[in-house]
Amino acid sequence: MEPFAPLGRIVAVRGQKCGHSPGDNPSTDCQADATWHIMWNTEGDAGLACGPHMDEARRSLVFIDSHRVGPDCAMPGTLWDFDGQRCVYPEEPTVDNAAAEQAVTA
Ligand SMILES: [Zn+2]
Ligand SMILES: [Zn+2]
Repeated sequence: MEPFAPLGRIVAVRGQKCGHSPGDNPSTDCQADATWHIMWNTEGDAGLACGPHMDEARRSLVFIDSHRVGPDCAMPGTLWDFDGQRCVYPEEPTVDNAAAEQAVTA
């Protein structure tokens, strides 16, 4: 266990707003804090939504997966955990190791 609270991550998440923006116009941006993280497609494009706009997305939009915004959702390099319904920050560079091994044998 880390003795200190991960303040950087908490602050980063606190600034996340719902990504709902009709017409992609800054004046119509939803000002609510995001509570849901949405993966829109298999390319990994992800977005953020508040509760009401998550409900709207469920009714009218196609998306791959969604989960409650967690402390690691805003971190660069996090991985979408479908089974765990969250984003996880890879503590070990296992992805890099796997890629390197593949490169050697290819
Ligand atoms: Zn919203
Ligand atoms: Zn997430």
